[in-house]
Formats: sequence, C-alpha cells, structure tokens
Amino acid sequence: MNEIQRSKIVLKILNQIYPKTPIPLKHKNLFTLLISVALSAQTTDVNVNKVTKKIYPKYNKPEHFVKLGRKKIEKLIKSTGFFKRKAKSVYLLSKQLIGKHGGKVPNNFDDLERLHGVGHKTASVVMSQGFGFPAFPVDTHIHRLAQRWGLTNGENVIQTEKDLKKLFPKKYWNKLHLQIIYYGREYCKARECYGLTCKICTTCYPKRKSPIKTKKA
Ligand code: SF4
Repeated sequence: MNEIQRSKIVLKILNQIYPKTPIPLKHKNLFTLLISVALSAQTTDVNVNKVTKKIYPKYNKPEHFVKLGRKKIEKLIKSTGFFKRKAKSVYLLSKQLIGKHGGKVPNNFDDLERLHGVGHKTASVVMSQGFGFPAFPVDTHIHRLAQRWGLTNGENVIQTEKDLKKLFPKKYWNKLHLQIIYYGREYCKARECYGLTCKICTTCYPKRKSPIKTKKA
C-alpha cells in the first residue's frame, strides 16, 4: 500500500470518527483566537480555555491588553506557563495590531508572521480557523501521527506540512488538521502507541508487529 492509499484510509476513518470539528480554543473574536493560540504553546487547550474564561469577558481587544501592560498580563496568564514570554508577545502584538492594522487581525500569512511571537503554525491556525483559508497547521502531534501512518518521512514539521498538503485535497485541510489533533489526543498519544490495535494502523499496516518509532519534529 502506498501513501496515497493510506491517506484515503486515514481520511475515511477520521470522517467516521469525527464528523464535526469544533474549534478547541474558546474565543470571542479573531483577536482572542490569535491570543489563545499564542497562549497554547507548551500547554493544553483545556488549560488555556480555563485561563481565558476569566480574561475574555473583560479583555478582548488589543487596546485592552495595551492598557493592561505586561506585568498585569503576566498575572492573568501565569498558569499557562512561559508566562513572561507569552505576556511580552501578547502586549507587543497588541501594540503592533493597533499601530499597523487599525486594531484588526490581518488576514494574510506575511502580516501575521510579522507579529511578535507569531510563527507559521500560529498564523496557520488563525488563517484556517479564523478566516477559513485552506491551511494545514502542523504541530508536533500532527507530525507524530503523520509519521506513524506513513504519510511523511518525518524529517521536520515543515516537510510534514508539505507532504500532507500534497496528499490531501485542499478542501479537506482545515477539517483534517483538527481531526488529526482529536485522534492524537484520544488514541495516538506521544508515549502510548499500541501499534497493533487502532483501525487506521491495522488497515494501513496489517503485517506490522510492533509500534513504529517516531522522529522528533
Ligand atoms: S496503532 Fe499506534 S500509531 Fe497507529 S493509530 Fe494507534 S496509537 Fe497511533
């Protein structure tokens, strides 16, 4: 079986398990989506949602965060981890949005990736989940699953994104990246590959005898 055949199986099974793909990070608008994605680095979406639940009813625009200042932002987001770095990004990107984009979140990769602390993955999530633009945000989890399913040779997240974009038609990208994230959380965790039990692997690799080792992103 080649990777095109495996990709079709993956798509079919994921569509059966996850017909709907609600956005995991709770937000009120495009700006708060951007902030939530920035806060989600090195922590769980559940943790981010717990923290932002108390913040967003009161603070949900760039002006609010500029007014708050870095120290107060640090206090509000402390439990998301790496809070000093994250608070700096939230503060500076809010200032950039006001100064260069009239307080609005830009709808293109170049401008998004120029915002403080916003990398390609964060920009991809905002483009995909916020603007509905076809994107394929690849984090370490998607990278891991794509390797285990034999959809990429797994050198790094950049390569994995290219490989997945070649294998799957554009119209599926936005939904599929969420489906893979859900599947990884539920079944295919970093240290818990059972190798022989899940339908995706038993269908794609009927002769596999043990879990495959994955390369780090
Ligand atoms: S068998 Fe292992 S690698 Fe395959 S989907 Fe299940 S947990 Fe993931």
